[in-house]
Amino acid sequence: MTTNKRPSIVYWLGNNLYLNITNQCPNKCYFCLRNFKSGVGGFNLKLEKEPTVNEVLAELQEVINRKNWREIVFCGFGEPLARLDCVLEVSSWIKKNYGKIVTLRINTNGQGFLLNKGRDVLNELKNVGIDKLSISLNASDKETYAEICRPSFENAFESILEFIEKAKEIFDVEVTAVTLPEVNLQKIGETAEKMGVKFRIREYIPCFW
Ligand code: SF4
Repeated sequence: MTTNKRPSIVYWLGNNLYLNITNQCPNKCYFCLRNFKSGVGGFNLKLEKEPTVNEVLAELQEVINRKNWREIVFCGFGEPLARLDCVLEVSSWIKKNYGKIVTLRINTNGQGFLLNKGRDVLNELKNVGIDKLSISLNASDKETYAEICRPSFENAFESILEFIEKAKEIFDVEVTAVTLPEVNLQKIGETAEKMGVKFRIREYIPCFW
């Protein structure tokens, strides 16, 4: 869908509220929706600049009381953990003010360690009340990952596996993959099973699962 609307930091689909806090991402997935569209559901997700925490909270406060949102999800036209501090501050505010009624999830490409070297990423997320991580794996081996996701980090695939292994000890974790010709969903499912995490197949609508 193409739209001329002003960019949205906060948008919604069904009963979920989504936070589009960045357009940065260390990958260049060939299937990324942002290569083809300006947004989803009538919202424009192409940010003109990276929003400040206050700008995220201002937009959030306009809509957070509109209904009983099932989940608030960090998920947009970029990788949320590229802005870890923003995720932490916004999550703290949500948990402080709405923590009893809303679940917080991050949809991530799993490269949080590479993006935040020297930080205790998972525990920092746990400490602000993140409940769930949905980690996009999309490949069962490094070569396929490089081919379809075109990561800027050389060891991205290995780091994602490490991220999943450590995250599952702390969070409700699911691994996801999109239905693409290059992707062996069965093998990824087996990888997830071996790691002891849930696996979810997404239709080819990247970034929105
Ligand atoms: S699909 Fe996700 S991980 Fe891939 S380039 Fe787009 S935002 Fe980044």
